[in-house]
Amino acid sequence: MSQNFAIKVIGYMYSSIMETMDRLPFSGRYWMEEIVQGTALHVLNEHGNELEITSDEPVDICTSYLKLLENKGFLQASDYHLQQEGKEIHVQVNFSRCVYRDFCVHAQHKEFPMYCIRMNALRGVLKSFLHLDYTYSIEVAQQENICRGRLFPSPLPRSEIVIREGHMLKIAGERAMLMPMATYASILASIREHAPHVLVHVLYDAGFRSGLRLARRARKMYPEALECLNILLDELKQHGLGHMELISLEADAGKAVIRCHDSFQVDSISKYGELYRTPRVVCDLLRGTFAACLTELLQREIFCEEVQCQSMGYPCCEFLTLPVEPQLMSRGEGV
Ligand SMILES: [Zn+2]
Repeated sequence: MSQNFAIKVIGYMYSSIMETMDRLPFSGRYWMEEIVQGTALHVLNEHGNELEITSDEPVDICTSYLKLLENKGFLQASDYHLQQEGKEIHVQVNFSRCVYRDFCVHAQHKEFPMYCIRMNALRGVLKSFLHLDYTYSIEVAQQENICRGRLFPSPLPRSEIVIREGHMLKIAGERAMLMPMATYASILASIREHAPHVLVHVLYDAGFRSGLRLARRARKMYPEALECLNILLDELKQHGLGHMELISLEADAGKAVIRCHDSFQVDSISKYGELYRTPRVVCDLLRGTFAACLTELLQREIFCEEVQCQSMGYPCCEFLTLPVEPQLMSRGEGV
């Protein structure tokens, strides 16, 4: 088998894994990263004694690893330009010289999230030598035919990671469970039966509390409000609550417009029965969740109204957030 064909086959394998990961409900990107880093660790286990490590600077560790791959005829180390700035490493490669170019083109074609095998392998190598978690960002400058990446330490676990430990499921390290919508609907039906007047408040408040937990964790990783909000909306989508889309954010005014397609709450009432006697918007849990996200991200009290709901025949649900006015609060009209 020729070297070229072997490298092509590796590209096919990664493409195929990526396609499979894309269909997994949870943590697909994380599993992809684990697979790539695991592969790098296998290389280190088998051939680590051939590494010529000159120092424990991150850039020297990465360079030694690339040289090992060059000695094996897998790539040309000189195609990769590495530069260390503080704890960060900047990596540049001429796109046409990257061993994983075919995979990358395929992934872009399929509109998978931007994902770099080389950067992930280097993460695995750094973790193995320095016991430090790195993360990375990557950008392909098509015009210049250059791929630019940045590796930087990031100790926080990604919040969307769902794993099984023995018989327990965990999301970002905390116990979790999968709940069929029928179970959720039964809980609501039971509240409606015993205390119909509290239903809307219970849902809003439950959304608010859980949203606040999510948002507090996310803000530690992504202090910038717009980026953090987009990441949170994506996480809610990953959790199956609906397909959220941020339409606008005016941070100073405390205003955001968020749309949601196929909210789980709309689906729940259409399958398991109406919650309220009169037709109205029904996505109160999402409303509370969005209010909490904005409250945490903007560091001021924000409430959220659902201005249109898919359950009333609109193409999607639309939510508007606004600052809580102190005078409304004191008159008890705030949410
Ligand atoms: Zn709705």
